[in-house]
Amino acid sequence: MHRLIASPFLSDYLLLHPGHPSGVRIPEARYNELRALTGPDAAPVWLHDAARQAWGLTLDRPPTADLLVRERSRYGYAKASWEINLGCDYDCEFCYLGEKRFEGLDWQGKQQLLRTMRDAGVLWLQITGGEALIDPEFGAAYEYAHQLGMMVQVSSNGSSLRKAPIRELFARHRPYRLTLSVYGATAETYEKVTRNRGSFGRFLDGLDAARADGLPVRLNVIVSDDNAHEVDDMVALCKRYGFPHQVFTNMSPTIDGEANPLASQAEAHMTPRSVFTGCNAGHTFFHVNPHGIASICKVGRDPSVNLITEGLATLPRLGQIAESLQLRTGGCSGCTKVGTCRTCRPLAKLYQEAGDRRELYCQHGGYGS
Ligand code: SF4
Ligand code: SF4
Repeated sequence: MHRLIASPFLSDYLLLHPGHPSGVRIPEARYNELRALTGPDAAPVWLHDAARQAWGLTLDRPPTADLLVRERSRYGYAKASWEINLGCDYDCEFCYLGEKRFEGLDWQGKQQLLRTMRDAGVLWLQITGGEALIDPEFGAAYEYAHQLGMMVQVSSNGSSLRKAPIRELFARHRPYRLTLSVYGATAETYEKVTRNRGSFGRFLDGLDAARADGLPVRLNVIVSDDNAHEVDDMVALCKRYGFPHQVFTNMSPTIDGEANPLASQAEAHMTPRSVFTGCNAGHTFFHVNPHGIASICKVGRDPSVNLITEGLATLPRLGQIAESLQLRTGGCSGCTKVGTCRTCRPLAKLYQEAGDRRELYCQHGGYGS
């Protein structure tokens, strides 16, 4: 399999080494030079130099064996996230996915979806869930995404990370990032949150395995009212492993607009979000659910387009959908604080559908004021 990818990325061209987040920007002329290479051609000297300097790589085979050149896409998307399956082996009270059905596309559908994302221009792909690693076709889909020339990030609860097939998979194809959630610093607290006996031990075994294998782990400390008393200990656990971490304190309603997760909010730990200044959801990135339904992002799921039945040509509609979803209508219309609002309109709408706990998201209720 290729060790280098040359690809368009928005208005730039990048050289990337799968499994490593850093890239080298190259001029269009050099991208075209690589694109024109055929089997027996020698790699240009600059490619040898770039690979050695950026990643310590020695290219000793014909470049076509080492290099995958991604084609330009007229759709111009750069990133996507994909819930391979919403099924999960944990049962956290605050989960924003609501009813987590164990279902998704069959293998043919998964392949079709990944090719569609490739053709849309997606270079950076996040595979998430549910718990992504327990989908029986996770490994095959992950390898296929690599084959298609995507840089793959995996988000997981870490429950299966200790298992030999997963370790071998990640050794063969290193994710450029592996994001794991932390739910507690002791078995008692962690398992109270996950409602899964023995899960803390499996999580620590997974962390040990990831550290031994040198995987690029990032830890997300998720604070709820059940584990807030262990925030400092969870941060200490992250530091002990030497993995970078972030602390997340704000709960959201479920994607179906149910309020249940908000009951787990540790309100004393809430931190104000940054002022919302716009985002590129639906324009340069999109989200896909287990059935191949694409939306502007994980929050603004409706309206959506079906990438399996409607195909790639439907994707540009997401740009128009994004424009309409960001209009401050409904419960936000006529707001006098919109210029300093910290909550994008799709998220505010979700809170409003879930019963409008304004103190959790809106300056008119005290949040972030
Ligand atoms: S939740 Fe809001 S800020 Fe985040 S990607 Fe979606 S629209 Fe953008
Ligand atoms: S401050 Fe509240 S009402 Fe105003 S735009 Fe933001 S979420 Fe909507």
